[in-house]
Amino acid sequence: MKKIIIFSLVLILLLSSGCARTETKRFQAEFLSLFDTVTTIVGYSDSEVHFKEFAEEIRGKIEEYHRLYDIYNDYEGIVNVKTINDNAGIAPVAVDRRIIDMLKFARDEYEATDGTVNVALGAVLRIWHDYRDAGLSDPENAELPPMEALREASRHTDIHDVIIDEEASTVFLKDPQLRLDVGAVAKGYAAEQVASYFEGQGITSLLLSIGGNVRAVGGKLTPDSTGDRRWNIGIQNPDKSSPDAEIMNVLINGISVVSSGIYERYYVVDGKPYHHIIDPATLIPADYFAQVTILCRDSGLGDALSTAVFNMPLEQGRDYINSLEGVEAAWVTKDGAIEYSDGFEAYLKGQHT
Ligand code: AMP
Ligand code: MG
Repeated sequence: MKKIIIFSLVLILLLSSGCARTETKRFQAEFLSLFDTVTTIVGYSDSEVHFKEFAEEIRGKIEEYHRLYDIYNDYEGIVNVKTINDNAGIAPVAVDRRIIDMLKFARDEYEATDGTVNVALGAVLRIWHDYRDAGLSDPENAELPPMEALREASRHTDIHDVIIDEEASTVFLKDPQLRLDVGAVAKGYAAEQVASYFEGQGITSLLLSIGGNVRAVGGKLTPDSTGDRRWNIGIQNPDKSSPDAEIMNVLINGISVVSSGIYERYYVVDGKPYHHIIDPATLIPADYFAQVTILCRDSGLGDALSTAVFNMPLEQGRDYINSLEGVEAAWVTKDGAIEYSDGFEAYLKGQHT
């Protein structure tokens, strides 16, 4: 009997010292230079060293996507979306499966959203990009692109000229003047792939944000005082003059939060700001909202929809979002009013908790 008691005491001591050694804590890491933005990783680990290793593994995976989806830079030994653009009208380019899958996804979203998000809009977007860059470096002389040039470029934006050969794993831009710009979907698509990968590896609690494109794996490991495990995500206030940095907070578990807004990239011409989301119907920045936020499981879908819905009038966008299972949206109008899809308010902090 005594033996048994001693044995169980030893066992308890072993267990408790074991617990102390593996006590999990919450850590956060930030990385610059991926997808031209800030990447934030929140997770749990028994030590800072282990978390750093884990965060570095995540960073490495995101960097692979960043390089593959880059349209501005070449990387030694890597065939990326820029390579496809450089070979427009010349030859099909053999690419990594991750490029094929992302482009197929983007094409599906083009069809689903009436073309309001179009990764083949690069010829038009490049003109805006160049004028914005010039305007930012010389604000006094900032100019708008001539409509004539935009119209001419828009003749080279047919997504059906992006020929994807899945068997050969090649992409060919049939129109020599067509250019891919995957800025509207790449970050979210990459966040989704990386988060799903780690989910598959057994990770149950992780928050990944690539430039505000947020994907949660599960909830928080340690609940708050009310037992709530949901992550609290602040959504940036599109009105930068407001004292409130965040316009709302949502509580999420295992889903994505993705916003598109006028404050992300813009330049000023004659006192008026011109942002980076271009309505394919008008070829100028969409003028409906200051911000659109999407909540849904798949971060790639969230990213595609945030851009698409930004380019739709409210009623069209609301009907569309309400028709989708598991997708919610919030629209912030330019005067600061907020509109919601049918189920969005259930996620707002302070309601339905
Ligand atoms: P997001 O911030 O996700 O709304 O994406 C904006 C980025 O997507 C821009 O910087 C452009 O590179 C690109 N973009 C802008 N307008 C469109 C559009 N209508 N369709 C596809 N991509 C777009
Ligand atoms: Mg987007």
